[in-house]
Amino acid sequence: MSRIDNFYKKLEDVVKLGAIPKTIESGQGAYLTINGKKQLNFCSSHYLGFAVDERLKKAVKVAVDKYGIGTGYRTLAGTHVLHLELEKAIAEFKGTEASVVFSSAYMANCAAIQTIIGKEDIVISDELNHASIIDAIKLSQVKNKFIYKHADSKSLEEQLKQAGRLSQAPKSNGELPVVLIVTDGVFSMDGDLAPLPEIVRLAKKYGALTMVDDAHGEGVMGKGGRGIVDHFGLLGKVDIEIGSLSKAFSVIGGFISGRKTLIDFFNQKARQRLFSIALTIPDAAAALEAVRILQESDAVVKKLWDNVNYIKSEFKKLGFDTGYSKTPITPVMLGDEEIAKKFSAKLFEEGVFATPIVFPMVAKGKARIRVIPSASHSRKDLDFGIKAFRKVAKELKVL
Ligand SMILES: *Cc1c(COP(=O)(O)O)cnc(C)c1O
Repeated sequence: MSRIDNFYKKLEDVVKLGAIPKTIESGQGAYLTINGKKQLNFCSSHYLGFAVDERLKKAVKVAVDKYGIGTGYRTLAGTHVLHLELEKAIAEFKGTEASVVFSSAYMANCAAIQTIIGKEDIVISDELNHASIIDAIKLSQVKNKFIYKHADSKSLEEQLKQAGRLSQAPKSNGELPVVLIVTDGVFSMDGDLAPLPEIVRLAKKYGALTMVDDAHGEGVMGKGGRGIVDHFGLLGKVDIEIGSLSKAFSVIGGFISGRKTLIDFFNQKARQRLFSIALTIPDAAAALEAVRILQESDAVVKKLWDNVNYIKSEFKKLGFDTGYSKTPITPVMLGDEEIAKKFSAKLFEEGVFATPIVFPMVAKGKARIRVIPSASHSRKDLDFGIKAFRKVAKELKVL
């Protein structure tokens, strides 16, 4: 075999083992169509039902008729008025001075860390942070990286103390290193929260900046979905807030919110903004409408939480272990990987789409089905899903 054939053969060996994701033939509402069959949508992160929302659809149509589709590289070809309106609306919604939008939260994380952290600075990161934060730290090429135990403020303080010595030594340019603590706000596998009040307190004590990636908290946590910082009453106390427009907002894009000076700096320096395209017109219009809906009323967020509380209490009554989630993410813990896969397959036969979460997404022996109810579900929809869970659990004898 030639060297090149060998290369492709190796890829093929890996690809063969991968699962083939299901193809969705409908919009992302309360139900999906898969293989022509209606399935309850029970694991999507479209928390608020905006993926098929009539107001968002209309806003997109109006904007496309007015402006078309494409925009430009913002620094070269001009920022679009819709981008500015969206950024202003996000900042107002979040209660921050300013915000800047990127094509995804992955990009926003990379921009946030790479732009302010260099080789000689210091990053302190939760061990379970999202892949995009891990990649962003790599991109910064920072040498001094400290990892603390998951959501453990004692461990965080130990790492801050260790970093403390290094942080007193000037960099080659004579300045003191920047120290950045970074965490997810909501951890997406268990639905638990970062201990933000403790993190903010320790950051102040040790002179560190704070950064929270609130991809799963935006539109979900806090007053009317204002996010994890609002949830903990810490407005203005976290330096860098990252949000995603792809989860509760059901569009695409990510953003950084914070002080105006910081956002101006990202606008000028972030490579993800300089060298990568901006949101298209339909994306910006849909995201803007989603933010406006949340600014007008908290009704849809309330509906989400009604559904969350209902399903959690019903699952508990049935005897399921749903972990220690503080969010709509509802892990139904099954432990064994094969059981979790079988469970999901049987649910599918019952008309319920909920994928198994197995190693390496979670530790071995912690396999689960991650249920996420949304505001688009009616009580009847939830009951249908709960009934299927009960039936499958009986069949597989896991209760
Ligand atoms: C989903 C997610 C992201 C990525 O968001 P995109 O906008 O899809 O790039 C980043 N961070 C966390 C914590 C997430 O859950």
